[in-house]
Amino acid sequence: MTSGGPVLFRELATVVALLAEETGLRSYQLPYPAAAQRMLDRMVLHCAGLGVAPPMSLPELLEWCRSVSAGDRLFNVPPASVLPESTLVHPVGLMPTRTCLELSSAGAEEAAGTLLAELADRCGPSERFQRCRQFLALNPVVHQHDRHKGGWSREVWSQVSHLYQPPPDSLIVGGTLLRCGTCGLPALLSDRRTPDSLSAVSGPATWCEGETCPDGVSMELVRNTAGVLLLRKPLRVFLALPFRLEQKVLAALDGAAIGHQALPGALGGYRLRGDGLPVRRLHVQVRVQPALLAERFWSVTEPVVVAVPEEFAGSAGYQAAFARALSGGERVVLTGPSGLIHRIRDGRVLNETRTMGGRGAHSDTGSA
Ligand SMILES: [Zn+2]
Repeated sequence: MTSGGPVLFRELATVVALLAEETGLRSYQLPYPAAAQRMLDRMVLHCAGLGVAPPMSLPELLEWCRSVSAGDRLFNVPPASVLPESTLVHPVGLMPTRTCLELSSAGAEEAAGTLLAELADRCGPSERFQRCRQFLALNPVVHQHDRHKGGWSREVWSQVSHLYQPPPDSLIVGGTLLRCGTCGLPALLSDRRTPDSLSAVSGPATWCEGETCPDGVSMELVRNTAGVLLLRKPLRVFLALPFRLEQKVLAALDGAAIGHQALPGALGGYRLRGDGLPVRRLHVQVRVQPALLAERFWSVTEPVVVAVPEEFAGSAGYQAAFARALSGGERVVLTGPSGLIHRIRDGRVLNETRTMGGRGAHSDTGSA
């Protein structure tokens, strides 16, 4: 992305992510935050240049972001950067999409990394930090009565409680907080319908923070929200969401007797240990935008395996977009958990990625 619409799209992502963090996308009012006002002014100018009727207010701009996608002529983001159908605001949830968070230079991921680094400093011994990290990953939502359950650690809670906040009003409808039955993160029904046990089933008219969860799964209704605390959003999205994949991957490494050690400061990054391994660096990532994921590995100087959910790895569009964005990054191979050990042990597969990218396989579902 170098100019015009594509740059605007990325900067708009930063503003949308900031607005959602500070005020929620439903509670904007005049005067708008300065960054939002500046973005609105720039959008008006940009639209004028294209002969398109501009958004006249921040609510209107955010409404646009639900439907005007990256590939629209307004933004004209190259498909090699962002999948064309991607929007910055989720049409059902009216929340920043994961694309928005992955694009945002405000860095939700950076925020997650900083929070974890601070926690590591405070925890001291690695084992205590790992217990705290695991607690955060497994408990994106905490209820007051959880503290009386068996297994509750007061020591861990004393280290992590500041990373939780009461849920914002935007996530509570009719006094109820919904949790996705798959990813465990907050969810909503379309048009802010009040959920009940019949309607709270994932589908086209629902949104969850994980965004790619399957349809037809019942959600959890949390009725007594007064005693509920939510893990801070950057940690929900960049720690809790990928945690199940990370556990699966680490179990596979253990099963294959491949040693692993977390890379300091790298979310999901591991150094591998084992005799004769051609790959010694692994990254576990759950990203909806393959090209943005690939960008992170442009400058690697050693072979790297990137483990993503099986459905992403199995998508020809996702694989092709990842390979294209690497442009010659034959040291990086993308895989799901099922092919992981083979890819780590067999250095030859590193060259297969290069060949696939060269064929220029076309996009199918892309975001999977
Ligand atoms: Zn979900």
